[in-house]
Amino acid sequence: MNAEAQPGDPDCPVCPDGHGELLGQLGHTDHYRCRQCGFTFSVSPIADAEALIASRAEAMPPAHQAGIVRAWAWYVALQDRTFTTAQVSGALNRAADDIMDAADVMEPVRDAINLLVNTTLTYLGDPDADLADAIKANYQIEPDATGPVDWIGENS
Ligand SMILES: [Zn+2]
Repeated sequence: MNAEAQPGDPDCPVCPDGHGELLGQLGHTDHYRCRQCGFTFSVSPIADAEALIASRAEAMPPAHQAGIVRAWAWYVALQDRTFTTAQVSGALNRAADDIMDAADVMEPVRDAINLLVNTTLTYLGDPDADLADAIKANYQIEPDATGPVDWIGENS
């Protein structure tokens, strides 16, 4: 319980110099106990930071408000990063190639990895597409054939 203070530890909402020690996490909420005064409090990075600040503004020193805004910005930067199709496609294909190069994978595994890559990229481009659409878009097979699904299945 007396782990060293971490840079990201939140400010205590009640005492001026205290910082929370993480007690545990429940869902997206982190529970802390102030190392200074022992006050227990919770931090939910998903809660709307501005609403939280507004509701507690009177009780909260400006320094603590800034801390929550910083934590929120950090969380958003991590969660809401966006990537171009080329970046996703590049990373996905490189990961597939690296895995297949590293391991002497059998043909059905190779087919499964490629099917995953192709289906993921199809779904990114068309969220309404299903597996049959992805197969149609990526493989030259007869209209009613299951193609890669059969190649990777138990009966291949
Ligand atoms: Zn405190």
